[in-house]
Amino acid sequence: MEKLNKRNIIRGLFLLLFVILWLTGKAQIWGQALLFGLLVVPLWGRLYCGYLCPISTTVDILGNIKSPRPLKENLKKVFFNNKFRTLIFLASVALLIITIKESFPVPFFVLLVPIGVIFTYLFSEAAWHRNCFIGTIYSWLGALSRKGYIIQDTFCSGCGRCAKVCPAACLEINSACKNIDNKHCLICGKCQEACPEKNIFYSRLKKGGGKTKPTGTASFNQE
Ligand code: SF4
Ligand code: SF4
Repeated sequence: MEKLNKRNIIRGLFLLLFVILWLTGKAQIWGQALLFGLLVVPLWGRLYCGYLCPISTTVDILGNIKSPRPLKENLKKVFFNNKFRTLIFLASVALLIITIKESFPVPFFVLLVPIGVIFTYLFSEAAWHRNCFIGTIYSWLGALSRKGYIIQDTFCSGCGRCAKVCPAACLEINSACKNIDNKHCLICGKCQEACPEKNIFYSRLKKGGGKTKPTGTASFNQE
């Protein structure tokens, strides 16, 4: 069950705005939110994903009724594979072009909401977030991010509760390492809420989101 916290209130308001823009035929204005999301990735990470995205907010609302399918290891190999992600990205570009050329009654970014929700329920949240058209573009810049979530590994007990709640499966917790893949991190803060040691922080990364370890903490770049 999602908590009624500040982030979720902001997300609810943005979802409402998204629906109003769509119903009033002004969905293209949402493009400005996407552009804002893109511009801030190198500074603060994927804030759009954590606070504005109507797909992820809808999934979380529906998750209060029925949880999406968890990520299966065999599917992870497919959906986290860069070649597969490129194929899905190209298919999304084709869909975008078709909706524009054919003056499709439902704009592409509105169409992405049911597609994202169905994909999530079929294959898991992480599978969708890794292959979402917008998320893929943001992940390219995510490696440059100056800020992101970090684990203070000196105090980490390795319980793995953070990894269990991460919707993007970007936490790796084992005896050898405790890492966050910042370019795929949605800045949702769920790992921070779940950590019983209060050991995860949104903080400045030493040099680039996925590339350099922040002092006294761990982060990683898997690709
Ligand atoms: S990856 Fe896509 S669906 Fe996921 S939060 Fe970001 S924009 Fe939304
Ligand atoms: S749970 Fe933590 S690591 Fe996972 S996406 Fe959310 S903020 Fe990022």
